[in-house]
Amino acid sequence: MEKYFRDSEEIYIYGAGEMGKKTCEEALTQGFSIKGFIDKYKEGTWCDLPIYEPGKIKEATNSIIIISIQNIYSVVEIYKDIKGKNSTILWNWEGIKKASLRDTLFDISDWGECILPRMDMHLSDKCNLNCVGCTHFSPLFEEVGCEYDVCMNNIDLVLEKFSGIARLNLLGGEPLLNKDLHRIILGIRCKLPQTTISFFTNGLLLCKVPESVLKVFSDNNIKVYISEYAPTHKMINQIKEVLEMHSVSYELSGYSEKLHFNKPLSNKNVGNENTCMSVGCVTVSDGKIARCPTLLYVDKLNQEFGCDFPTDGTINLKNCNLSGDNINENLCERVPLCDYCIKNEIEWNVCGREKKITDFVKLEG
Ligand code: SF4
Ligand code: SF4
Repeated sequence: MEKYFRDSEEIYIYGAGEMGKKTCEEALTQGFSIKGFIDKYKEGTWCDLPIYEPGKIKEATNSIIIISIQNIYSVVEIYKDIKGKNSTILWNWEGIKKASLRDTLFDISDWGECILPRMDMHLSDKCNLNCVGCTHFSPLFEEVGCEYDVCMNNIDLVLEKFSGIARLNLLGGEPLLNKDLHRIILGIRCKLPQTTISFFTNGLLLCKVPESVLKVFSDNNIKVYISEYAPTHKMINQIKEVLEMHSVSYELSGYSEKLHFNKPLSNKNVGNENTCMSVGCVTVSDGKIARCPTLLYVDKLNQEFGCDFPTDGTINLKNCNLSGDNINENLCERVPLCDYCIKNEIEWNVCGREKKITDFVKLEG
């Protein structure tokens, strides 16, 4: 915190809510003085300090504004509204959950004009669990893929269109299967110093990976999210112990949430609205970007079982004339594949040795 606060004349906290309160308490404990809160929807006082309306920022110079709000889309909007006002903008992206601000403050002052709010990227196409209904179709992949150069190229292509990525989710498949994980994560962090990075795993390999991998998470401020499926649940205490021993910041999805799953597609064009299981899960792979992983990887399902699910809506970043803003707009549009998406709850289970179309598709009619 000191490195940010040392030379500042005024510190404001954007967001007069519980996260703002936590940020304020820690800053005060460390001897920094807070000028007040900024909030569009509240007035009066919070934590005995005044709440200002956002116009106040326009008068602020040489100030620090700590956005203490978790919702990434709100943060991007606030950032666009206040950037370039001669202030340093920090984001406390999960202030309420951590004891210390040290690891949760990101300097986002240079996100720039055109921001991709969220990007998901595989670090392995293959998985070691192979759940029925996987929306990434990972049980169909035999190879890990996602080599270092491919991952770096994806980031470079995105940065040709966008000045910054607010949040990057690294996942798969099972990303811990990637043997080059350490180097890839270092490479990504080097290209994206102002991006909050999360790593999603089923956790089964966490007790087996080299210490260097655990260290790369803690050294590069990467939070590990563990999807606690039944096999993970059996070894959860061991997993927690290893992560805590290496000071890795982590969060569990909760076993009860993973007892049920969804088989995502129907073979019929059902055209239901509001059945999206992947809202905001913009995914990048092999130079292409799509509004969800199901769209980006449905080709694999088509190849494997000779089906014909529509793939329209994927954008090839290598030779497209669209600006980043146009791409953001396009990624909000419904795509033909949406007509085949269904809410279809199933008990969580894994595929058999031979994968079947019914592992992913509900056959109707
Ligand atoms: S653990 Fe995740 S990536 Fe792997 S098969 Fe299950 S849902 Fe897919
Ligand atoms: S195809 Fe459409 S409805 Fe289905 S997961 Fe993707 S965005 Fe959501």
